[in-house]
Amino acid sequence: MRLSQYFLPTLKETPAEAQIVSHRLMLRAGLVRQMSAGIYAWLPLGYRVLKKIEQIVREEQDASGAQEVLMPTIQSADLWRQSGRYDAYGPEMLRIVDRHEREMLYGPTNEEMITTIFRDAVKSYRDLPRNLYHIQWKFRDEVRPRFGVMRGREFLMKDNYSFDLDKAGAIHSYNKMFVAYLRTFARMGLKAIPMRADTGPIGGDLSHEFIILADTGESAVFCDKSLVDKDILGRAIDFDGDLQPTVNEWTSLYAATDEMHDQARFEKEVPADRRVAARGIEVGHIFYFGTRYSKPLNAVVAGPTGESIAVEMGSYGVGVSRLMGAIIEASHDAQGIVWPDSVAPFKVGLINLKPDDGAVTGACQTLYAKLSAAGVETLYDDRDQRGGAKFADMDLIGLPWQVIIGPKGVAAGKVEVKNRRTGQREEMAPEALLARFGA
Ligand code: ATP
Ligand code: MG
Repeated sequence: MRLSQYFLPTLKETPAEAQIVSHRLMLRAGLVRQMSAGIYAWLPLGYRVLKKIEQIVREEQDASGAQEVLMPTIQSADLWRQSGRYDAYGPEMLRIVDRHEREMLYGPTNEEMITTIFRDAVKSYRDLPRNLYHIQWKFRDEVRPRFGVMRGREFLMKDNYSFDLDKAGAIHSYNKMFVAYLRTFARMGLKAIPMRADTGPIGGDLSHEFIILADTGESAVFCDKSLVDKDILGRAIDFDGDLQPTVNEWTSLYAATDEMHDQARFEKEVPADRRVAARGIEVGHIFYFGTRYSKPLNAVVAGPTGESIAVEMGSYGVGVSRLMGAIIEASHDAQGIVWPDSVAPFKVGLINLKPDDGAVTGACQTLYAKLSAAGVETLYDDRDQRGGAKFADMDLIGLPWQVIIGPKGVAAGKVEVKNRRTGQREEMAPEALLARFGA
């Protein structure tokens, strides 16, 4: 992509309305714009990142055996009356009346809807287990939308729902999601720590929140430092095998949000030098809730001896749009965003230091064409602007690699490569650079 043609409205000034660094950087780097309180438009650069985050979530869901569907944003009130949640949900639910005076709502979550879809299709235990997910916009009329996309009113969530014949099956489904979540967040360069959680309005008796440590997080968290140091990636996962040992490894150590925290237990179980008391951002939340929805909505199957069995369910959410804010909170410096490779909107930012110099522009165009042809996502700053402004913008938008080409380099047959994270610079021949990026 040529920056001269790209819609990238960066801001020099820090927007006054943004209280936390990720919100400031998302506005300054031209990723999003607020349309109403807690409702955002995604601009090209931000939308690229959102799709990458979404894709990682999708790949890990698929790897776990879950199947993707897409349910609507608008739901009927009747559906929610059947589970008893229509009145219970309160003012966070955006209620709508259509032209026929039918009561509708903008879905804050989809337990009721998926349960009826499942109920109307599955009649026998032989068709279990099933796990269905979708990645869809949700609306919750939050009292205090704030921190940009972190606590929006409209936000993108991945939510999935597992259906099993018995509790043991449901726990296995829960464990699959537990492990899929560890992998999902690790792939985004995040340390998300699973913490025992309250089941809240969804109901049920087993639940974990996945929390990223960040000073600006909304929850107070307490955990064993060993969890912060633990690594998940690099381990092969057999989702059909026994996942309980992996889950136990993570859940045997103390980790709790303020709601579930027990100071006496914390002090008893965690040695003083390993006690972490910090703040965190919830990026995912998983629940096992048994027959909380299958009973009222009559989602029953015929069991092996013909008896009717209400299915055992769980639900599992990831805050896809919130993750963008969380990743920036975890990965930025004074100059701007530092994207982890896996979610970076482009891999390379190519900076032309002298667009009016034919040799420099020729070298840039050749390199840009070769990188693009090899599928290396490149943003080419071909704008007629000072080098200083280009460096500042490139640092602000945080692409992992900067490739800088100017008259001196061209004369010497070299380009300069800067690693955004470490700041390390190297000079190399264009061919060496292409080889480095597999082009
Ligand atoms: P919170 O405690 O932050 O309000 P929640 O418990 O209401 O979250 P869930 O119903 O578990 O959230 O939703 C699943 C995920 O969706 C959460 O883990 C979070 O990452 C994300 N999420 C929830 N509410 C919002 C919001 N208002 N804006 C952005 N993301 C959200
Ligand atoms: Mg929660």
